[in-house]
Formats: sequence, C-alpha cells, structure tokens
Amino acid sequence: MIDASQLPELDNDEIARYSRHLILPNVGMEGQRRLKAASVLCVGTGGLGSPLALYLAAAGVGRIGLVDFDVVDESNLQRQIIHGTAWVGKSKVQSAKARIHDLNPNVQVDTHEVPLTSENALGIVAPYDIVVDGTDNFPTRYLVNDACVLLGKPNVYGSIFRFEGQASVFNHDGGPCYRCLYEEPPPPGLVPSCAEGGVLGILPGIIGMVQATEIVKIILGIGDSLSGRLMLYDALGMTFRQLKLRKNPNCVICGPNPTVTELIDYNQFCGVPTASEGARPTDVAAGNEGFARQGVAEIKARLDGGWAPFVLDVRKPHEADIVKLAFADALIPHESVGHELARIPHDRDILVHCKMGGRSATAAKVLVDAGYRNVTNMEGGITAWAKEIDTSLPTY
Ligand SMILES: [Zn+2]
Repeated sequence: MIDASQLPELDNDEIARYSRHLILPNVGMEGQRRLKAASVLCVGTGGLGSPLALYLAAAGVGRIGLVDFDVVDESNLQRQIIHGTAWVGKSKVQSAKARIHDLNPNVQVDTHEVPLTSENALGIVAPYDIVVDGTDNFPTRYLVNDACVLLGKPNVYGSIFRFEGQASVFNHDGGPCYRCLYEEPPPPGLVPSCAEGGVLGILPGIIGMVQATEIVKIILGIGDSLSGRLMLYDALGMTFRQLKLRKNPNCVICGPNPTVTELIDYNQFCGVPTASEGARPTDVAAGNEGFARQGVAEIKARLDGGWAPFVLDVRKPHEADIVKLAFADALIPHESVGHELARIPHDRDILVHCKMGGRSATAAKVLVDAGYRNVTNMEGGITAWAKEIDTSLPTY
C-alpha cells in the first residue's frame, strides 16, 4: 500500500462531496485519498460494468479505465443503466464516460475502444491497480484472468445468468485464480449467453455492486475480501450462499510449475470459431462440420431463386411468441431435435435457425450426425434476418 504521506490531497469540493465517507470509520480522510489515488480497469461496460463503474465513480476512485468496442443497443437498456436512450447506436465507452463525468467530474476516465485481445491485454491492464471482469464470454474471461495472474493484479470477478449470479476475487492475497476454479472452459454453445438465455435486468446490478464493494475494500484494505470464496446469488430464492475455493496446486498459470507463461489464443482454447475460420462464411459447401453456414443475405438470395428448404426454428416457444419467420415449417427447441427427428423430412434440404445462430449450429450438427444431408445453418439467426432482410420484424 502507498504510504499515506504520498497520497493526493482532497480539495474543498471533494471534501464536501465525500463527507459521508470522511466521517465513516475505516474510510476517513486517508481512505478517501486512497480511493483518489486508485485506478481500476473495467473490462466491459455492459450489465456488470454499468453499476460498478457508476458506484466506483461516485465513491471517488481517481482513475477508471473502460474497455468495450460495442455500441449501445436498445436491448441493453433493460439492465445496462449507465447508458441512456439517447445513446442507442453510439459508443458504449463514450456513453459511459459521459455519464461518469456527469456524476463525478473528478474522475479521470480512460477509454479503450477496442476488443481486449492477447496482443493488447497486457499493455491495457498494466497501468491499473485492480481489474474488474464484466465480460460476458469465456475467451475474454480466461484472457482477463491470465493477464491478471501474469501481471500480479487482483481480478474481481462476476458472472450472471437468468436469475443467478456469482462473484469472487481472484489472484489476490495468495488466493486462487479463475483457472483454479474452472480449469477448462465449457464446450462452446453449452452455456447460453444472456442474449440467448435471457437475464433478469436487476441481477447484474446486484452482482456488479458486490464487485464494486470488493474493489473499494481492496483499495482501503478493510474487511474480508471474497478471495478464496465464491459467492452464489439466487434472485428467485433470494439467497446468498458461498463456497470455499482453494488454490489448485497444479493450476497451469498460478501454480508453482505453470505451463501457461504468456497469453494464448483464447478463442481456440474455448473452441470458438474466429472470423477467419468462418464464423460468417458465405460458402454454401458444407465444411468440416458436415453442414453449411450461410449469412442471411445469401439465404434470402437462394430463397428468392426458388430454393425451398424445410425451415426449422430451434428456439423456445416463448421466443417464437415474440417473433417468428413466416416461412418456418417447425418449431423444435434445439435440445429436443434429436428426439423429434420424425418431424423433420429426410428428402428436403434443411435450413436451421435460432436467435443468433449458436443453438441452431448445435442442432445442425445433431441433424448431420443423424444422417441428414444438405443442412444449412442461418448465421446470425432471426436477429440478423430482422436487421438485414425484414426490418419490420422486432428484435429481442
Ligand atoms: Zn490458478
């Protein structure tokens, strides 16, 4: 910890602003000056990043870095409360920066409007004291963890799904890292994203504020951090539970004999196809997977040209209640496709779609394994169709 004599002073406006902290035992003038001296990197300005960046700014953390390359979408506003309606279609980090400065102009905000990658992560993370993980995908989560371990930074973790969330502090005070808890990523497609699985809008608020609390405690050196504990929150049962976490003595990055000594290719590690490998290819030919992946423009052109596939929607019925393609032939949730093959003809081409293209790719593989030929996955799903082909359709 920095020696108290080295900490920045507060001016009279700051003393007025932070008065409820200044009179609080365990914070006081020295604690507030520690907050002013601190720097925190928020990876993601979405559901978790929104509340935690707001509270860190309000609390007087001196420098906040924001990493995000996304733009604000209308569907974000249900939970990403740092962004407002006027910012839809505009940069998330600029939106967050404007809101933070409205809340507390004393905070220095650094914007990193790029995807966090193995190439840039160490450079972006290095100038900060603490990193907070507000990401929504596994490759970035492992990347953040590994960068923090390699640079010796605490990694304040949170994740959310539907009505449940979890939080912990990794790589702090000799405690475990994310890889100690989750050695291997789940198979791609097994864990739906918030876009696929849905999330209660308030949930990231609760988890993000737990993360913000942990950050402030680490800066102040007070209380017991979540290092070595995983907090589990269930909104429906309204329960907080905790699991004890131990450092894995064989951890590949934080163990005594690490095999991961530099950042790796996290998309490959997590089995996520990259753009160059054909995340949205235009080639009709079936690839190694045994089915074709096509974008909506190509699919529309083929349909206009007389192609008449059996169109299989593999989303859930409540999603089809929101919006569906008028020319869909059947609705079978992706996990049931293997049991409902009798409803899917063998003598026609099959076009599979879901919301974004992930679940339908899983279903396409099931169909190929069951002997179906000429299976095409609609890349980007009905969301891409609604954005690029039929803009009268709502997106969700
Ligand atoms: Zn570890």
